[in-house]
Amino acid sequence: MPTKFWEAKAGRAFAGRLATGSDLVEEIERFCLEREITAAQVTAIGAVRRARYAYYEQGEHRYLELESDTHHEITGFVGNVSLRDDKPFLHVHATFADAGGATVGGHLRRGTEVFAAEVMIRELGDVSLARLHDEETGLALW
Ligand code: ZN
Repeated sequence: MPTKFWEAKAGRAFAGRLATGSDLVEEIERFCLEREITAAQVTAIGAVRRARYAYYEQGEHRYLELESDTHHEITGFVGNVSLRDDKPFLHVHATFADAGGATVGGHLRRGTEVFAAEVMIRELGDVSLARLHDEETGLALW
């Protein structure tokens, strides 16, 4: 697949605080569905009670599931929203730091429990980003 870019217009912007105990992925996707946000840039900071993330094995075309059940700071959170199966889909890569400052991270999964999180969502307008299966990588890509 060659490199591709889509031009978009700046859309709505949202700032939110997630409920303690909520699921970091599900809560953002639920809000996007409710507000019909289908393309966006998403960032967050805060802390989690437990983290679920994954590493994509490029040779095997499958995710290796990883988890940390201790408290962590969210020290990095870069994500986007696009359409997958006609619904808003959140794709995030996150880094989490423990009490000693050591970090873990990867492709964010459901099951990451929020302690506190501030989320910024910048919608992209006039663009359609839809995920489809890509044979070469095994991933669902635009
Ligand atoms: Zn990913």
